[in-house]
Amino acid sequence: NAAFDVLIIGGGPIGLSCALEARKAGLSYIIIEKGCVVNSLFNYPLYMTFFSTSERLEIGNVPFVSINPKPTRPEALEYYRRVATSHHINIKLFEEVKQVTPNADEYTVTTSKGTYHARHVILATGFYDIPNLLQIPGEDLPKVTHYYKDPHFYATQRVLVIGAHNSAVDAALETYRKGAQVTMVIRQEAIGNRVKYWVKPDIENRIKEGAIQAYFHSTVTAIRENEVDINTPDGPVTIPNDFVIAMTGYQPNFELLKTTGIALSDDEKKHPAYNPLTMETNMPRIYLAGVVCGGMDTHLWFIENSRDHAGKIMAHIKNNA
Ligand code: FAD
Repeated sequence: NAAFDVLIIGGGPIGLSCALEARKAGLSYIIIEKGCVVNSLFNYPLYMTFFSTSERLEIGNVPFVSINPKPTRPEALEYYRRVATSHHINIKLFEEVKQVTPNADEYTVTTSKGTYHARHVILATGFYDIPNLLQIPGEDLPKVTHYYKDPHFYATQRVLVIGAHNSAVDAALETYRKGAQVTMVIRQEAIGNRVKYWVKPDIENRIKEGAIQAYFHSTVTAIRENEVDINTPDGPVTIPNDFVIAMTGYQPNFELLKTTGIALSDDEKKHPAYNPLTMETNMPRIYLAGVVCGGMDTHLWFIENSRDHAGKIMAHIKNNA
């Protein structure tokens, strides 16, 4: 089959924006997405609200109209799906890219369903598929999740939330308000500084008044069917527990980056090598776009500040054509 000018791995907001820009530049393109359209957003907590206002989540100059200052998950799904369908974006869904191999002046891309050829490849694979594990006994129990969805499930239950950033704080407040008994375990001395400025006082006051219990400077050391062990500054504590929501962050698929030949920094950050002006990696004609660029620093890039990656990439491709 004929080679595409551009093959985009990942149909998240940034993969979609790459497709729109490729088409604008007159390049043939295809997106390969392993789940549904904007799969990561689909898997976010049901009632999450974005921290960005809607116009900052727009791609391809398509207006994102929301009644609220900050849109909700269903609104974002509606928006990105409509962008994809009304622009007839060429996207293959439920097909996973397994391998990218150089082959003369093209790349061969092997997926769970077939093989493609492309002159340029963009990895826009995000970071939401692989959770950072706690590496403690009991983490694999079915009562432990790294993907929090719906607070109703936890009503009347004893819930432990691990973490101090936005996802942990949202899970703690939502489950508390649906009648869970919530305990937080936080490694640092305080709630994270990047927590949404309008949510931070809410969680801090709930902790101060004792409605939500929090152990700071503490770590969970073991999880069992009916209790958890916590290492606190005052010594080890065991508390009764029904469910654990571990909001310990996620990481990009470094295996895919490595087997594609993309160099990673050899510290714990694992920053992938790319030229920030063109987004081209150390592999010729292979580009990065979106949150995958940050390596383990998954907070560095988000939709707002990585929407322009697509334009940089297409400009570089056109200039080199
Ligand atoms: P993703 O949306 O993660 O898309 C990557 C896609 O690649 C996924 O659909 C995945 O299924 C697919 N994929 C991965 N590997 C493969 C493979 N091998 N083959 C095929 N497909 C593959 N950002 C903001 O700007 N504003 C916000 O308000 C905001 N709120 C957030 C709230 C939460 C709870 C979270 C977790 C993140 C939030 N972010 C926000 C960050 C934002 O979600 C990400 O910046 C955004 O999803 C990045 O888009 P992306 O296209 O780079 O990656």
